[in-house]
Amino acid sequence: MAIGRLRLKKKAYDFPPYRPPSEAGSLLLRVTRGCPWNKCTFCSMYRNLVFERRPVNEIKDDIASAGEHYSETVKTVFIADSNSLIVRTDNFIEILEHLRKTFPYIERITSYARAKTLQKKPLEDLKSLRQAGLTRFHVGLETGSADLLRDIRKGITPDEFVEGGIKAKTAGFELSVYILLGIGGEERWSEHARDTASVLNLIDPHFIRVRTLQPQPGSEIYKNMKEGKFRKASHETALKEQKMIVENLRVTSQYLSDHISNYIPVNGKFPESRAAMLKTIDENLKELENNPDLLQKFMNKDRLNSL
Ligand code: SF4
Repeated sequence: MAIGRLRLKKKAYDFPPYRPPSEAGSLLLRVTRGCPWNKCTFCSMYRNLVFERRPVNEIKDDIASAGEHYSETVKTVFIADSNSLIVRTDNFIEILEHLRKTFPYIERITSYARAKTLQKKPLEDLKSLRQAGLTRFHVGLETGSADLLRDIRKGITPDEFVEGGIKAKTAGFELSVYILLGIGGEERWSEHARDTASVLNLIDPHFIRVRTLQPQPGSEIYKNMKEGKFRKASHETALKEQKMIVENLRVTSQYLSDHISNYIPVNGKFPESRAAMLKTIDENLKELENNPDLLQKFMNKDRLNSL
């Protein structure tokens, strides 16, 4: 629902630059701008934005503007930018209550969140937010390897991530966890795959969402790649890595490759879809050797530079 670019523009509706593909039909509401962490080496999303919390009254004005046009039709809302969970809980609850009053048919309110913030936030606060209508968190794990998490400056350890994830589930949230294929590069793919599956197994999130590293200009990892300090995982390695993750997962999650960066669509529900997912990966691994069209498709993904 591109309301920022359409009828609400003249009222200075603040339109967030990023949202998950699964929120394409949602009302987008910017509660903060930018990322309060902004240090991950693979990420260029909010590099040039100074993080700020938007004043609650300004946010309520946006909600009122959207409500004038869409109060009967909005069913899902996405809260941006990267970690609005960092705002004071009472302020967040006030925003959620205003949303629910303005849009009586809301079924889901989703937000990005950093696992570190989830880990630090008291369980009672999370429960209050859940009660006020916040439904789902999208959280980036990227990798379960402690060494890789340190090297990509994610600012969290595997144990802290597990603690944050389990706390979100305990508070009643739906949890969607991102993993990043290729983040270990050509050398560390098996450590990345094995440890990522281990962390996910301890949390059993509702959704596992897969992205593939296509280093973006403006990110540190892109610079390292250009200087020869980081060797991007080959197509074959990225597929082998995904195969190892799928083989080692012991979860009941929905597994989704719902992003343009991914080489192949591997989707399904664990554990019942595991065999079909592995078959898809194996078929592509085999075909990659002698199918120039498939290779071209993969190479087109390598050229994506505005993710
Ligand atoms: S990946 Fe997320 S936490 Fe890391 S810098 Fe980017 S937006 Fe911030």
